[in-house]
Amino acid sequence: MSQILNVPELFGSDVFNEAVMKQRLPAHVYKAWESCIQTGSTLPLDVANEIAEAMKIWALEKGATHYTHWFQPMTGITAEKHDSFISPTGDGRVIMEFSGKELVRGEPDASSFPSGGLRATFEARGYTAWDPTACAFVKDGSLYIPTMFFSYTGDSLDKKTPLLRSLEEVSREAIRILRLFGDNKTQRIITCVGAEQEYFLLPKDLYAQREDLRLTGRTLFGAPAPKGQELDDHYFAAIRTRVSEFMQDLDEQLWRLGILSKTKHNEGAPCQHELAPIYTDANKACDDNQLIMRTMKKCAAKHNLVCLLHEKPFAGVNGSGKHNNWSLSTDTGKNLFSPGKTPRQNAQFLVFLAAFIQGVDEYQEFLRCTVASASNDTRLGANEAPPAIVSIFLGDELNGVVQSIIDGTNYTEPEKSLLRIGVDVMPAIPKDTTDRNRTSPLAFTGNKFELRMLGSSQSIAGPNIALNTIMAEELGRFADELEKAPDFDKALQKLVYKAFTDHKRIIFDGNGYSDEWRQEAARRGLSNLASTAEAMRTYLSQKNIDLVTSRGVFTETEFRARHSIYLDDYRKKVNIEARTMVDMAVQQILPAAMRYTDSLCAGVASKKSLGVCCRGEMALIQKLSAACDAAYDCMERLKDALNRIPEDEEAAADHCHSVIVPLMAELRTQADILEQNTAKSFWPYPTYSDLLFY
Ligand code: ADP
Ligand code: MG
Repeated sequence: MSQILNVPELFGSDVFNEAVMKQRLPAHVYKAWESCIQTGSTLPLDVANEIAEAMKIWALEKGATHYTHWFQPMTGITAEKHDSFISPTGDGRVIMEFSGKELVRGEPDASSFPSGGLRATFEARGYTAWDPTACAFVKDGSLYIPTMFFSYTGDSLDKKTPLLRSLEEVSREAIRILRLFGDNKTQRIITCVGAEQEYFLLPKDLYAQREDLRLTGRTLFGAPAPKGQELDDHYFAAIRTRVSEFMQDLDEQLWRLGILSKTKHNEGAPCQHELAPIYTDANKACDDNQLIMRTMKKCAAKHNLVCLLHEKPFAGVNGSGKHNNWSLSTDTGKNLFSPGKTPRQNAQFLVFLAAFIQGVDEYQEFLRCTVASASNDTRLGANEAPPAIVSIFLGDELNGVVQSIIDGTNYTEPEKSLLRIGVDVMPAIPKDTTDRNRTSPLAFTGNKFELRMLGSSQSIAGPNIALNTIMAEELGRFADELEKAPDFDKALQKLVYKAFTDHKRIIFDGNGYSDEWRQEAARRGLSNLASTAEAMRTYLSQKNIDLVTSRGVFTETEFRARHSIYLDDYRKKVNIEARTMVDMAVQQILPAAMRYTDSLCAGVASKKSLGVCCRGEMALIQKLSAACDAAYDCMERLKDALNRIPEDEEAAADHCHSVIVPLMAELRTQADILEQNTAKSFWPYPTYSDLLFY
């Protein structure tokens, strides 16, 4: 019988959290740390020394021998370099040491992380600095210290720093609005994020036999299995034992790390699953999501499974996304996107809603860019994922309110006077309507917005940085206007009316997958940036540069560096995939099909000598030969296209998108014809049927 888990005891047991700090630090040290967090000031060295010492003792008790500065470079995943605590005593022995300096600052040899030109290799130093607002934890024998990562010149080289900056900005501007509504208590606004994570699990032995899965995380070839997801028999279905054991193990490890893993279930596609934690502050949510992805991979390996986080591991069945649930809350836990009970609360809610709608419309391209990647290109805009067009779903009730404000009509009782913001009461907004629109890229779900465009493998930092910054910008503009208005109520009416009227084009409650929407969106003047190459052409618009620099979220140099890095990453990923396809075609697919053709030919020769009819064989031979020829030609053209990638980074991305990716699709079509016409015993690797229905 398995042991009974004491979850409350287990939860957070590997985290150096506030409770542990309170218990282990002298009162004055804990106070000093607390005030640093609140004011954002730097920690005095003596305080850092005491915290480091307490951390070390705690970590040693947990079995740690090393510590690592854990950071989030622009690769979108995390990085770590481990140092042991050992320090020689001079007599051939060691003691375990860890100083405040080592806690606060690190210097990984960082020359191999993408910097987008921010750091020449001759000046390869990168620095890490402790983020004291995030908790350290012990994992795999190391003390992990969450850090920011920056260059010698102080430029951010990571995803955490701009996220923290954006959190400050949105907090500051939201508080200005709250003050106007008479709230003098709130000191901080917390950005709340809950990121639902989709993933696939495959048996390790099958995975290992496919070069495409091993090198790119997705299948580049593969004819559809006779069965797909059409029976809807996987979504929410009973979880098979092997997967269930994995999930239990995963939960246990995540709970140890203080991650609020809450929901697990099977998803739409065969072998697809989802994990959702309970939402938390955005900084922790971002760290946690990285840990979730890492732990999933590691835990899967332990169970002889492989966890695929790729956005589209298999053609023809659903891909994986990450639903980023986002809201703003006061430090006392009041959700600013919760419609209130009184007219005053409703007016405040409408200001935040108006800022959101205006911001998303104005900066739709920026938001789109934050989810652009080679792997997410394979999913976004396909028919089971949100379209690449940014729009907001509000639901019937809220739509009615917005429309009534635009029309100047009363929503609830049409005969009566106008719905006056801050005067009339709004209808109740249901939290979880079952019919809420699944095709929308950005949906209001009662008291939060759910961004569904994010890919399953991506860091959640990007879109959250964008949402916070956009929101800070609009709230700031609103506050500027309202603070100087002689008549607050009038100014408020005007402002909300104008925001809804000017930006209603971004609101769309219909079917986001339909062609009609694409046409309608074009009529409305909304951007449809279908690929990374197209999206990234809008990234460095003056509007975006002004936004991020005036808000202090990125310097212009940092922002330009990111543009460069994303394009570079896109080009490299497409290249790796294309080269993998060529490799598999030459080494495995063509030889298999040719061997099979040979054996058919040999059969035909001997049958013919006996005068037996060979119509079936002959037809098959013709089909295989034609597809072999076509595949070979595609492959040659693909190789040629790979040799002609332009120097300029935007031109290179365009070339990848408009030449290489279509050739990859063509080669796949031919290879899949070969697969469908070749005997199983000749086929060199597991098929979709083997992989998805093991
Ligand atoms: P689903 O979208 O699958 O139906 P839920 O709506 O229950 O699931 O929640 C999805 C995620 O949204 C969870 O991570 C949940 O904790 C998070 N969430 C719930 N309320 C908020 C909020 N106010 N702000 C941010 N995230 C939230
Ligand atoms: Mg959801």
